[in-house]
Amino acid sequence: MNLSRAAPRTIQASPASIAAAAACLQAGRLVAFPTETVYGLGADATNDAAVAAIYAAKDRPRFNPLIVHVASLEHAARYAVVNAQAADLAASFWPGPLTMVLPRLEGCALSRLVSGGLPSVAVRVPAHDTALRLIQASGLPIAAPSANRSGRLSPTKPAHVAAEFGEEVAMILAAGRCEIGLESTVVDLTGERPHILRHGGLDRDALRAILGEVAEGAGHEGAPRSPGMLDKHYAPVTTLRINATTIEAEEAFLGFGPDIGLGLGAAARMNLSADGDLTEAAANLFAMLHQLDAEGHAGIAVAPVPDIGLGLAINDRLRRAAIR
Ligand code: AMP
Ligand code: MG
Repeated sequence: MNLSRAAPRTIQASPASIAAAAACLQAGRLVAFPTETVYGLGADATNDAAVAAIYAAKDRPRFNPLIVHVASLEHAARYAVVNAQAADLAASFWPGPLTMVLPRLEGCALSRLVSGGLPSVAVRVPAHDTALRLIQASGLPIAAPSANRSGRLSPTKPAHVAAEFGEEVAMILAAGRCEIGLESTVVDLTGERPHILRHGGLDRDALRAILGEVAEGAGHEGAPRSPGMLDKHYAPVTTLRINATTIEAEEAFLGFGPDIGLGLGAAARMNLSADGDLTEAAANLFAMLHQLDAEGHAGIAVAPVPDIGLGLAINDRLRRAAIR
C-alpha cells in the first residue's frame, strides 16, 4: 500500500481513455490495463527507460523477464522467431491466456531489458478488448507484468492496482474484474521439447492436445530451467569484474555515478548513469553490457552500484554475469 502519494487516476475504458493511455505509453509512461488474466502494468516494450520504470515501480529485486503483449501472431513475428509449433498454438489459443517463450528475432526493436538479457522473449495476445485496443491505438508491443508490487498478490480489479501505486503510474484503465483472474500459462518453445515454465489460465491438457508431450518442472534435459536460474545465459563472453575500484590492463570500464577518474586508462568507458540514477542504470544495463562484450575487451570492470532500490536487481544480474 502506498500511503505517501496519491493513487493513479482510474479511468473507465472508452475510446477516448484508451487513446489517452496510448499517448502515455508512447511518451514512455506506465499504464495499468485490464487483460483476461490479471491487470498488467504496461510500458512501451521498445523503450529501455520505460521498461526500467516497471521494475522500479514494482520494487522487483530481480530483472525477471516480462511478457510482451502483442495484437496478433504477425505482430509477434516482428520480435520473435515463430516456429511451426508456435503458429499451431497461436491458431488454437490466441487471443488467450497462453504466453510463448520464443527466440528473440535478431536486431528486433524490443528493449533487451524485457528479456532480462536472455536471447528469448515471452509473447502473448491477450483476449481482452481493452488490452487489444490499447496495443492497436499505441502501435506498440506492451511489456507488462502483473500490476502489483513485488511479492504481493496479482490484481484482478482496478481498486487492487490503485492501492499499490502512486504517481509512477500515469493512469489505470479500468474495465471491471478480470475474467480468469489467474496469470497466463507460460510455455517455452526454445528448447528441444516444449516445456511449461508456469501453470496458469490455459490448462496442460489443452496444450498437450496440440503439442503432444509437454515437459514441466525445472532442470529437465534440453530445456531451460526457470529464468532466475539461467546463470550462464546472463554471462557475457567477456570476463566481468564487479565492485571494481581499479582497472586492469586492456579492461573496459562500466561506471556508475559521477566520473571520479576510476575508469582512467580503461580500453573503453561507458557509464550506466552519470547522475547515479538507478532507473537510468537499469535501462542501460543490458545494452551497455552487450556493446562492451561485442567490442572484445580483455575484461569488463563494473563500478560498485549501491544495493538499494533497483540497485538490488542490477547487482543480482551483475553477480550472475560475473559467474564463470
Ligand atoms: P509476469 O509477467 O510477471 O506475469 O511473469 C512472466 C513469466 O514469464 C515469468 O514466469 C517469467 O519468468 C516468464 N518469462 C518471461 N519472459 C521469459 C523468457 N524470455 N524466458 C523464460 N521465461 C520468461
Ligand atoms: Mg506477477
